[in-house]
Formats: sequence, C-alpha cells, structure tokens
Amino acid sequence: MENILKVENLRVSYHTYAGEVQSVRGISFNLSKGEILAIVGESGSGKTVTAKSVLRLIKEPVGEIKEGSNITFEGKDILTLNRKNLEQYRGGDVSMIFQDPMTSLNPTMKIGKQICESIMIHRNISKEDAEKEAIKMLKLVKIPNAETRINEYPFQFSGGMRQRAMIAIALACNPKVLIADEPTTALDVTVQAQIMDLIKELQGELGTAIMLITHDLGVVAENAHKVAVMYGGMIVERGLVHEIFNNPQHPYTVALLKAIPKLDMNSDERLISIDGTPPDLVAPPKGCAFAPRCKYCMPICKKKIPDITDVSDTHKTMCWLNHEYAPSVDLSLGADDVKISSVQRKDAIKKENIKKTHSLIEVKNLKKYFKISKDKVLKAVDDVSFDIKKGETLGIVGESGCGKTTCGRTILELYKPTAGQVLFENKNVYGMNKMEKRKFMKNAQMIFQDPYASLNPRMTVSDIICEGIDIHGLYSGKDKLSRVYELLNMVGLNKEHANRFPHEFSGGQRQRIGIARALAIEPKFIVCDEPISALDMSIQAQVVNLLLDLQNRFDLTYMFIAHDLSMVKYISNRVGVMYLGCMVELAESRELYSNPLHPYTKVLMSAIPTTDLELVKKKKHLDGGEVSSPINPLPGCRFRNRCKYSKKICSEAMPKMKKVGNNHYIACHLY
Ligand code: SF4
Repeated sequence: MENILKVENLRVSYHTYAGEVQSVRGISFNLSKGEILAIVGESGSGKTVTAKSVLRLIKEPVGEIKEGSNITFEGKDILTLNRKNLEQYRGGDVSMIFQDPMTSLNPTMKIGKQICESIMIHRNISKEDAEKEAIKMLKLVKIPNAETRINEYPFQFSGGMRQRAMIAIALACNPKVLIADEPTTALDVTVQAQIMDLIKELQGELGTAIMLITHDLGVVAENAHKVAVMYGGMIVERGLVHEIFNNPQHPYTVALLKAIPKLDMNSDERLISIDGTPPDLVAPPKGCAFAPRCKYCMPICKKKIPDITDVSDTHKTMCWLNHEYAPSVDLSLGADDVKISSVQRKDAIKKENIKKTHSLIEVKNLKKYFKISKDKVLKAVDDVSFDIKKGETLGIVGESGCGKTTCGRTILELYKPTAGQVLFENKNVYGMNKMEKRKFMKNAQMIFQDPYASLNPRMTVSDIICEGIDIHGLYSGKDKLSRVYELLNMVGLNKEHANRFPHEFSGGQRQRIGIARALAIEPKFIVCDEPISALDMSIQAQVVNLLLDLQNRFDLTYMFIAHDLSMVKYISNRVGVMYLGCMVELAESRELYSNPLHPYTKVLMSAIPTTDLELVKKKKHLDGGEVSSPINPLPGCRFRNRCKYSKKICSEAMPKMKKVGNNHYIACHLY
C-alpha cells in the first residue's frame, strides 16, 4: 500500500523547570491510504506529543522537534514547510479530532459557523456553498435535523453529538490523514461504539488514513489494522493487529493485555497489574525504559537500549528477550501467572451466600429531583429501590446522566433526598439524631472519581488522611502518626509520602491516597464513584486489586459505580443497570452479563469493546440511539424512544421491578 505519512527518528523534547523532558525518543512509523494505525500506551508515553509533532503543533521555545527528525507527507518534508503551506497542510491534508469536544469547540460560536470556517479557509468557496457543505457533513456524521442544528451552540449538543461535530469539522476539508486523539475516552460505551463505527465507515467511504491514539485496547482490537505500542517515549512493539493481540513479544504489551479484565474471566483470578510507574523522561534510563517494572529484566537490559528486531516482516519489537542468547520465556497470554495461589482473589462474601447474608444498606423508593426552573425538574433518581448485603460489592452501571453518582451521593446524604428511605443497619439514615448521624458518617465513606480534584492541593498527605481521624477523635499524638503510616502501607505507599503534597504523586498514587482517607476512620460501607476511570489500564488493575484486598481484610461493603462494564463485572457480586434515573435491571453479575434481558442492558453489553479478535469478527453493536433528557421526562418507560420493542403500554405506565429469575429483577413491560 502507498505510504502517505512517514515519520522517521522523531525526537521531541520539552523544556521545563525540572529540566529537558525527552517526551519522544527516536520513533519511526508510516501510514498508508485507508489504513488505521493505533498508537497505544500509558499516559506520558509520548502518544499525543507524536500526534502534535505530525501537525507541527509543538510550540517553541517550550517544546522542540530535535534535529535529525523527519516527517514527510506525500513526499513533502513537513518540518520545513513555510507558513502558507503549513496552513493548507493542517486541516486540509491532515486534521485532528481532540480528546475533549467541550474544550476543543468554541463555546461562543454556532456549530455550523465552526464547520464553515474550516471549509472556507481550505476550500476557497462561498459562504452559501460552505453552509451547504456543513449541513452535508453534519448529516454524514448522523446529526439529526442537521438544517436546524447547524444554528445551535456546542452546549446544546450532547457529549456524543459534540464529538460528532468535531469529526465533521475534521473531515470537512476531506483530509487524507485524520488524527483521532482519544476520540472516545470521555464517552460512554454505547456512544463510543457509535463514534468508532462512524469513523470506520467514513474511513471506508472516503479512504482517509487514520492515526488512532487511545489507551483502550478493546477499541484498538475492534478498529485498527496496525498497532504501535509506546513506552517511555519509544515504540517498543509494532505490528498488525492480530500479531500484537495474538502473539505479543514485548513484556510491556503482554502486561497491558493481561491487565484488562476479560468478560469470561474466572471470578477467583486476580487482575495482573504492572507494578511501579513509567520512567522519568527528564533523566531516561540508560537501558530499556521498562526494566524497573519488567519481571524478565536481565543485566544487559539496564545497560543498553535494546535493538529493534523482526518477529516477522510486519512485526517488530524492542526487547533483549528477542535475541538468541536470551533465556526462553513464555510470553503467551495464557501463561500461568494469574493463578498463583498467594495472589488469588478472595471475595469477602461467597456468591452462594449472597441471598442468606443480611442487608447492610436498604434503599427504598429513593427519589432525588433538582428544580432547574419554575417549570423544569431534573429527575436524577426516580423511585429506585435495592439493597446491598454486608461484605458485598454492588456494581452500578449506565450511561452518563443516568443518576449513578447522584444515587450514591444521596445515600450518603451529600444530597438531600426528595423522597424515599435509606436504611443503614436497619436505621433510617434520613431520620437519625445528631449522634446517630455522626456514627453513620463514620461508617459510610466515599472514594471520588477524580484523584486530581478530590484532594486539597494545599494539604499534605498526612493532613488529608487525618481530617476524618480528627473529626471523629479516633487517634492522637504518636498513635495518630502510626495510624497514618499504617494506612499508607495498607494502600501500597510508604511513610516518606506522608509529608508530601498531592501534586507530587501520579494519578494512581493519588487514588490510593483517596482510598487511605476513606479507610482512615474504619468505615463499613464505601461508595466508590468511578474510582478508576481517570487511570490507565495497568493502574486500574492495581487499584481494583487493592480494593478487593481491603474488602477481604476488613469485611467492607462497596457500591461500585463505573462505566467500564468489564471491570464492574469483575469486581461486583451483583450489578444494577440504571437508565435516566431508574433502575431497569438488577442481577448477579455473571447472570446479568450472560443473560441480559432488558433491551437497554442488551445495548450496553453489545457495546463493550473486546480484545478477543475472534469475538470481534462476530460482534455487532446494537444501535442504541441518543439518550433523551431526564428533565421533565415523559410518562412511561424512559427507554421507550430508543427501544425497538416499544408498545402502547410503554408510553402509558412506568414499568415496575419484577422478579424474573433467581436474584434477577427487571423493569420492562416485555416481562
Ligand atoms: Fe524486560 Fe529486558 Fe525486554 Fe526491557 S529489554 S522488556 S527489561 S526483558
């Protein structure tokens, strides 16, 4: 196939107070017409810097593309283009979809105007023709009523629609290369599947070559032709998608693939995490950057960067194991390091005992409405009932805006409920006196979604952890300090970390601090609100393993809110599915995933990305349509406008929860 983009020996540095950060260290790859190349790796591995370099968006003097680097597009040297040609190249020949559509779209400009602007710059056509083109593009990316929506502002679009508008802008000038930088990371699985299907469809229709940057290996397996795995600013392995997924040859690729919970994973298997953190690229290691985290590390690995070796014509790796004198090791994904008994997963509650165990929390007809204006009410949680047994993990899943977080916060009375009851150890939380409420607050804690925003940047780790200890007067003096050290040790940090500030830690370490803070006052129940969504896959596995260990050790009960359905299945005993404020299905996790009954649950399950290439071939995403608004919802089933089985009764009455099997409940008029 004809190469249109060629990157050779690309080296990029950033100049910071800490010194020169060598973000990209000599990478080479090429991209052919109609091809999808995925670039994967943890945060900080150099993926986005590579994309920005291709568009020459590295701004001097902060950043610098080093001498000796070479980027050619259709044979033209990009690094020497003058300003005029560079303008045509950016947006005209190569365009980019950014990760966060809310910050990349101009909030003060109508969507149509933003598309027209790009068309008029690059295609030299009249305003009227540009408008016609903009409507055509919006239709192409499947925005309904394109003729009217063209006059709307970004805030009037949902997250998925904003991302489609970004794609429309990026494709408006018919670029030959499209760089999609984490285009679906901020989206729900259902919208993610729709957007990726759309990108693939457009690539098929227009022959655009795509550079897809992501850390979601499921998205890669389902969409890419070629994969480049980046670590510490280098491409450590690259090859065709089946070569990387079926025959990975670099220990880092293997570890990344093993860190993903598989849907058919045995419930007593433990997730494989990659211990340690990525290298500091101010002073990159002399040898292999992965050496400190690699269990196969040999003396030569620390001394010399490995050469690039061929596994096949299309498959290359950068590891000393791939040299004839290295010992032979089994890097296959089935290699038996998951079932080591000392690290086997143990649940605090045995699945067969769920029914017999008594409830710690009972939620009865809980409602939480927010009054938006005189005649607008947002029904965030609407008549939800469930219980959580002692020692159990109840997973809650659903698209953004379905009320998962509001439900968790209302249970802890961080929001005042509109109606309903929450019983904690048989006592109504909303009717407790001051003493009882204090006790409840000690017993029920929350781990927040964003490890960056949930820790006070002006407080040391020790002060953050001690806040709850002081409020409840649990420890003082030396005992308090020993407790802080004990907690840090429990979550895999050490006592030297106690006097540091949050900004000195990585995302995974900050989430550990959040967990230590929640555990400090010995709670019985923790609402884990998307505790892993801001973390890389390998770090997610570390945090989930830690949560399970702590649950087992302290008999904790979790409500685990997340939109990563594979991880929810792995960690939860039972799972509840929420849709626009209502609980639509609740069952034991294995049962729910193998036999989803609600039409919405089926759409959700069909959208879970898989890394199993055999399954990818057979897989078909069910079209779930757009989520409707929870503001002044119409009577009847909230899912009815997206449901292909909808009948008359569905618009007349809200379905009630019914038992349809052993521990399996559903709210749907079909049952
Ligand atoms: Fe591990 Fe050595 Fe290979 Fe690096 S070169 S990945 S340390 S075995």
